[in-house]
Amino acid sequence: MLPYTTVVEAEAALGRSLTVAESLWLNYTAAKSDYVLYCHNIIFLFVIFSIFPFYYLFLEYFFKNTIEPFKIQPKVKISLSDSLSCYKSVMRMFFLVVGPLQLVSYPTIKIIGIRTSLPLPSLWEIAVQLVVYFIVEDYTNYWIHRLLHSKWGYDKIHKVHHEYTAPIGFAAPYAHWAEILILGIPSFLGPAMVPGHIITFWLWIALRQIEAIETHSGYDFPWTPTKYIPFYGGADYHDYHHYVGGQSQSNFASVFTYCDYIYGTDKGYRYQKKVLQQLLEGLGSNSINNGNLQDKSAAQPCKFD
Ligand SMILES: [Zn+2]
Ligand SMILES: [Zn+2]
Repeated sequence: MLPYTTVVEAEAALGRSLTVAESLWLNYTAAKSDYVLYCHNIIFLFVIFSIFPFYYLFLEYFFKNTIEPFKIQPKVKISLSDSLSCYKSVMRMFFLVVGPLQLVSYPTIKIIGIRTSLPLPSLWEIAVQLVVYFIVEDYTNYWIHRLLHSKWGYDKIHKVHHEYTAPIGFAAPYAHWAEILILGIPSFLGPAMVPGHIITFWLWIALRQIEAIETHSGYDFPWTPTKYIPFYGGADYHDYHHYVGGQSQSNFASVFTYCDYIYGTDKGYRYQKKVLQQLLEGLGSNSINNGNLQDKSAAQPCKFD
């Protein structure tokens, strides 16, 4: 909770006038405890898990022909009832695991030193911290994900997330409860290393989940702004990980491509890309006309996987 409740008190404490954003923040948070502010994450996650996958479902039903060329595995059809049953499972897990995890993890952000006070961080500070959070989480997530692909990890935990060999937006948070808990840890590492304002923390949790929904959407839209992020994996990259399935030893990284490149776990993906490219350039003119080459199955997973 802020140590002042009025603009006058806040300006006296800061020794300057408040910006518009700071006045709004003061008005909104003056009477709210830090715990209540932290629990806003539960509402944000609920909204994100609901709205963004439904956006893809909406496009699929009302702009089917427009988005069809960008479907990564066009032969796989997932019915509306299957999509809604996935959403139901995610919501069950949300209320049983994700929400309670947020409620009890509050002491962690107090220990880390996430602040709710004024002054608000600059846009530059927010951007730099978000980049650090994404890089730290991506690296840690890469190794945890690799461990989850050990025989024990896969059979006991990670198999649930891989039930979708052609993922959909709803399936991004679809996982065993233990995986949700384990992969929650890397989310706190970046903020622990570079603690910031709770607004940055909210943004971090929200953007990471939106990114996960996009990479599980099953569509590789050329207009997505994430295409401009260096070393960004994207939907096609993670879709390949699901496509190969249980035996997948490729494309473990959650956000960027550099970990798989450095540790040599993107060979299968790169090989498949090369084969598809060759088919498109040379042999494929007939197949292209038949529309066959849109499908990944035109190039089967190779021995590198
Ligand atoms: Zn996996
Ligand atoms: Zn996945």
